[in-house]
Amino acid sequence: MQDTEIENLIGQEAERQQSTLMLIPSENYASKAVREAVGSVLANKYSEGYAGKRYYEGNEIVDQIELLAIGRAKKLFGVPHANVQPYSGSPANSEILFALAEPGSTIMGLGLSSGGHLTHGHPRVTFSGKYYTSVQFGLTEEAKIDYADMRAKALEHKPKVIFFGTTAYPFILDWEQARSIADSVGAYLVADISHIVGLIIAGVHPSPVPFAHVVMSTTHKTLRGPRGAIILVTDEGLAKDPDLPKKIDSAVMPGMQGGPHNNTTAGIAVALFEASQLEFAEYGHGVVNNAKVLAEGLRAKGIVLVGGGTENHLLVMDFSGDSLGKGTLVASALNFAGIVTNRNTVPNDPSPFYPSGVRIGTPAITTRGIKEHEMVKIAEWIAEVVEIIKSDKLPEAKEERQKYIQDFKARMQADERIKVICNLVRDLCAQFPIL
Ligand SMILES: *Cc1c(COP(=O)(O)O)cnc(C)c1O
Repeated sequence: MQDTEIENLIGQEAERQQSTLMLIPSENYASKAVREAVGSVLANKYSEGYAGKRYYEGNEIVDQIELLAIGRAKKLFGVPHANVQPYSGSPANSEILFALAEPGSTIMGLGLSSGGHLTHGHPRVTFSGKYYTSVQFGLTEEAKIDYADMRAKALEHKPKVIFFGTTAYPFILDWEQARSIADSVGAYLVADISHIVGLIIAGVHPSPVPFAHVVMSTTHKTLRGPRGAIILVTDEGLAKDPDLPKKIDSAVMPGMQGGPHNNTTAGIAVALFEASQLEFAEYGHGVVNNAKVLAEGLRAKGIVLVGGGTENHLLVMDFSGDSLGKGTLVASALNFAGIVTNRNTVPNDPSPFYPSGVRIGTPAITTRGIKEHEMVKIAEWIAEVVEIIKSDKLPEAKEERQKYIQDFKARMQADERIKVICNLVRDLCAQFPIL
């Protein structure tokens, strides 16, 4: 490699990934086979169009790769149609909207601060909220999906499309109920399973396929593939609208995209192959089991969890009872201890910029082979870090916050107790090499 600057930085990032605990629930380690596909010569090829209908010559082999990926997706999820070309989850959701709803029509989704995704109609800042009239539903007092609110808002606003899916929600989703709400107003139900796709394949979360009309999933989260996404049309979708496959395909290309990333398509095919093996079910069980052990360990140390626990791969620690924006400080301190998480809003969070929660998940560390025994230790280390910064508070005055965080980081970097935990994390990680 000639470019030593990038070579060095990639080396440093590999070292960081090896020596820290990756607890961000949307991240994972793709296999070597997936990474090899993504780094292959397939990236050199232009293939606008679909198999057998390309605008460029020389796609005989790429056609076979894309058809393999499509076939594997259809078989694994039990659906009649799959599109494997979306560049990522957010473009895929735009494409679904482009296919199913005229600009200006009404769409509905779970609010961001309730654990939904930006692309599900977040007002003002997103395509989905600016070009569509967006309605957002929320959570109950117990931090569960408020199906009554969802139903009432659907009946009032008559959305054409209902997105149902989450990024920071620790409980099982009730697809049947969501479908009955969609049916009450004749809406399309789009299941966005980006986070939980691996759990669904493993059989530890119910599948939306019998209920949703369209299913979208990213491929780089619990599916452990390359960065990308797939859009599936179910039998239910086909029954509602026989043109749905065509509408989705033309919304992807030429509607929103140009040439597919063939290297990614091959990586998706490999990931789908790996996910169809028996070991993958074991993996999914491990992810959920590890999350439960983590939740118990944290609760035992007095840490409050949104909704009180978890039924899936993630949980959200809730520091709103502590001080404003405490999640920001906890996530930063954990990072200095080698425990990588992300700050996250909690339900009714007063600030989206300095939120009160920290989201943690187990998909990546379970891929490394970490099990219950280690999860107990990890819960203790997290609780220790929280204890170390017990008296830290973000200033009330907005102008002072940046400066406080800067000083806080300097203090954390020098803190001997944080260093001790960081070394313990490093030793644990050395026992579980990433491949
Ligand atoms: C991650 C995610 C997306 C967006 O995927 P990107 O690849 O980041 O664009 C969409 N929906 C949900 C529910 C997600 O978790």
